[in-house]
Amino acid sequence: MAKIRGTVVIDTNRCKGCDLCVVACPTDVLVLGNEVNSKGYNYAQQVKPDECIGCANCGYVCPDGCITVYKVKI
Ligand code: SF4
Ligand code: SF4
Repeated sequence: MAKIRGTVVIDTNRCKGCDLCVVACPTDVLVLGNEVNSKGYNYAQQVKPDECIGCANCGYVCPDGCITVYKVKI
């Protein structure tokens, strides 16, 4: 049976650094990095992209719709 993996694309320039996606991720893929975007917010980044299962929690909780989730069969 094919396994599903996920990957996310974060619109870092629109991120407000609220941390909701970081908390919502069950596999700790995301963190708020040290770098800031053009608005001065520490934006979300993937630190463990291989751990993404494509659950889409991060995309649902982001209040600004900054995260797009893709699912891929492997
Ligand atoms: S899709 Fe799920 S596993 Fe992947 S980064 Fe978002 S919350 Fe984490
Ligand atoms: S939930 Fe959205 S706005 Fe908040 S840190 Fe994550 S990507 Fe940024």
